[in-house]
Amino acid sequence: MSNNSIQNTESVSTYIKFFHRDIQASASVEFPTSDFIDAVLAPNLLTKYCVDPTTLLINTRKFIRNHWREQYGQFYSFSWDSDWHTDYRRLLDNYVTNRQFSIIDIGPVENPQDVPKTGLEMAVLKRWCSQDIGANIFNQSYNWAWPADYVWRVGEVPVIKSADLYIAQWLNMTIVATKNITDFGQAVAQLVIPLLFSIFYALEAKTKGPWPKKLLVKKCELENCQKVYIKYRKPGQPSQFCSKTCGSVVRNRRFREIKSEKRLANG
Ligand SMILES: [Zn+2]
Repeated sequence: MSNNSIQNTESVSTYIKFFHRDIQASASVEFPTSDFIDAVLAPNLLTKYCVDPTTLLINTRKFIRNHWREQYGQFYSFSWDSDWHTDYRRLLDNYVTNRQFSIIDIGPVENPQDVPKTGLEMAVLKRWCSQDIGANIFNQSYNWAWPADYVWRVGEVPVIKSADLYIAQWLNMTIVATKNITDFGQAVAQLVIPLLFSIFYALEAKTKGPWPKKLLVKKCELENCQKVYIKYRKPGQPSQFCSKTCGSVVRNRRFREIKSEKRLANG
């Protein structure tokens, strides 16, 4: 039972055992991972988060509220404290401007041009989603617990420590659970933000990652727009503009140019 000074007066905690960890959860949610991607990380939303980062929390909260179980009492309107936004913008800008980074930081070398390059600025990206976590997200097997993992050495029986915060994925399901409901926002952030940043591994590897289709990230070609936008890639349909509005600005301008050229030719 949770006796925190929160609105949950009737809540019942649940014992959850998963893989090699267990947790006495005062809150947990479970949902199909693909539903979460559609509701919170769809391409139009990924675009929106560039300019309006608070909507990531708002959309996540709405989704979790829809999956909240009555047994935990009234929905706990969680928050989190994370300044992911500047780095998200930076990594998207790196991508659209095709910046390249050394794959490893090995200091002065004889032929720096020979050091393999990648579009991933790992020094920034690993703060939000390491390569290992990115790979696990792609395999739908992201598992994270706090305090850190169990203690095990080959030949010994693993010592299982109960977790305070817990995330697990299997097949198309994701579960988030916390011992104290007040930690719930931090646990959710530990799921949402790595999923969000896994886009950079997907783009670099030219794969779809956790999304149902490959993503396309571009900068709008209208000079006074230049907005970075994200869509699902449609083969054979090159995209130039962030919106129909920007596209029609350019088409109308071309139309006027053709008309005035004709007028000049006729006059
Ligand atoms: Zn535009």
